[in-house]
Amino acid sequence: MLRKTLVLLLTVFSLSCFSQDKSVLLLNSYHPQYKWTDELTRGVRDSLSGTVSPENLHIEFMDARRFVDDEIYHKKLIDLLKHKYLNSRPDVIITSDDHAYYFMIEHGQTLFPNIPIVFCGVNVFYPNTLKGRDNITGIKEGMEIQGNLELIQQIQPQVNKIIMLGDTTGLGLRMVQRAKSIKSQWLSDPLKQQISLEIWDNFSLKELHQKAQSTDHTSAFLMLAIHKDKLGNYFSFDSDLPELASLSKAPIYGMWGGLMIGNGVIGGMMNNPFEHGYNAAKMALRVLDGVPIADLPIKEKASYKPFFDYAQLQQSNIDMTLLPTNAVVVGKPESLYQRFKTIIHSVIALVILLTAIISVLLVNIRQRKAAQYKLKLFNAQLESIVHQRTEELEHRNQALEAASLRMEELANTDILTGLHNRRAGIEDVSAFISRLNITYQPLTLALLDIDWFKKVNDTYGHQMGDEVLITLAQTLKKTLRPSDRVYRWGGEEFLLALPDTDEALAYMVCERLRLKIAEMNMTDIPQITVSMGLAGFNAGDNLDNILQFADEALYKAKGEGRNKVITKACLVGIL
Ligand code: GH3
Ligand code: MG
Ligand code: MG
Repeated sequence: MLRKTLVLLLTVFSLSCFSQDKSVLLLNSYHPQYKWTDELTRGVRDSLSGTVSPENLHIEFMDARRFVDDEIYHKKLIDLLKHKYLNSRPDVIITSDDHAYYFMIEHGQTLFPNIPIVFCGVNVFYPNTLKGRDNITGIKEGMEIQGNLELIQQIQPQVNKIIMLGDTTGLGLRMVQRAKSIKSQWLSDPLKQQISLEIWDNFSLKELHQKAQSTDHTSAFLMLAIHKDKLGNYFSFDSDLPELASLSKAPIYGMWGGLMIGNGVIGGMMNNPFEHGYNAAKMALRVLDGVPIADLPIKEKASYKPFFDYAQLQQSNIDMTLLPTNAVVVGKPESLYQRFKTIIHSVIALVILLTAIISVLLVNIRQRKAAQYKLKLFNAQLESIVHQRTEELEHRNQALEAASLRMEELANTDILTGLHNRRAGIEDVSAFISRLNITYQPLTLALLDIDWFKKVNDTYGHQMGDEVLITLAQTLKKTLRPSDRVYRWGGEEFLLALPDTDEALAYMVCERLRLKIAEMNMTDIPQITVSMGLAGFNAGDNLDNILQFADEALYKAKGEGRNKVITKACLVGIL
């Protein structure tokens, strides 16, 4: 079911593509194998394809080249067409070339009453044929006798005779008439008079061959239209024309593009049968679309363009620079460039593309290098700044460390005597005692106090008192061992720490010291004495309890008259 619907839809769609099933009759003047007619028919088919279905294009051939004067054939053709199209009338008729047009002028109203006609390929057009007919339009082919004569003059400057070839039937006759009128104008033009124009229209093929053989390169032939020779022999463009060309020393020119190039003709201002058919069919389609004939005016002349056969140009030694600039040269050997044009263009495009890419990459690389260089510079600057800052920081740190050391030094030093102060003493000796509690090495602390120092101050002044303190401090430092420590414990009181010295030994050291002080011979300052209290270290002792014993011993020394050394042992009654 679905399949059937699809088929139906497709059929409806394909039919709707064509112009409502309208039909077209193409009436050709000549026969199907005639190259001209063949090309023209191809143009019609091409133009109608997709709009008129192939089945609705009816093509008839009058074969007028071969039956041009055959009355019986003519009558039978009328009967045939009448019979064929009695019940299937076309919607528009296209006629190709003169015979079909004049046939329809004569019999159209009887055979196909009121059916619009689009003609093409009419070389000799008589305007009175349109009288009373408002359903005819088309494209006149015209003819290019004048243009071809001028072309011959241009590319063959040495030419002194142009022979125009026609015949006495149909189109040939009409073209000969036109050629004669052009000849009479030609003769009146002084610039053209030196070239004689000859019109040949009544000859046998044999006579034509003889004529051709008698020519030379100062002559030229211009083919008008030859259907038959005077004996009724059919003139074939495919076989007779090449033979004529091979016999002739004069180049042969013509205007029927599709028929002549490749058959020995050098070239000429030519028209194109495919274009006639194609353009006429386009007009016919507009008629089918309902455009009134009055709105489709007759085109006065088909375009004629210069076409040439390269081999013939070479054979006739034609200077190629004399050809019109818009000339098309058929069979010209391609130059290497033309042969490989696409490849060359592709390669050029590729090279341009690659160049562009490489340029972009080079710019990119350059920019990157510049950026890298800047970065390097920046890094170097940064490194130098960091280095400088680090150095500054190190200096500051060193200064800070020095300041801190100095501060610590100041905090631990007594300004007057230069000895370490009580604070330093507590710290040093406490740490020392902590170690001794592990090693149990001997240590004795001694508290030394100047006797009656108040009196010194009172008698000699405070400054002298200071001098005494300074001198005593120096004496203590000088007299004791380097390993011994001396601290200004406060006022006129000093703490001595004697490591590796037990209390008995320390007593002797301090007694010696006391005597030395008492015997100090000081000229500038008054004589002084000192009292000392000693206490040795015992396991488990701390600074406080050793000092307490030392202090008690000192107190005892003072009590016993001063200038004395008292030990802890003495204090507790061991000594
Ligand atoms: P004692 O024999 O009992 O120790 O008698 P003293 O006079 O030495 O003891 P006292 O404690 O009565 O007096 C101590 C004096 O030391 C009092 C004070 O003015 C003096 N003194 C303390 N420190 C300094 C100092 O730095 N310089 C001076 N010149 N005198 C100081
Ligand atoms: Mg004192
Ligand atoms: Mg004192």
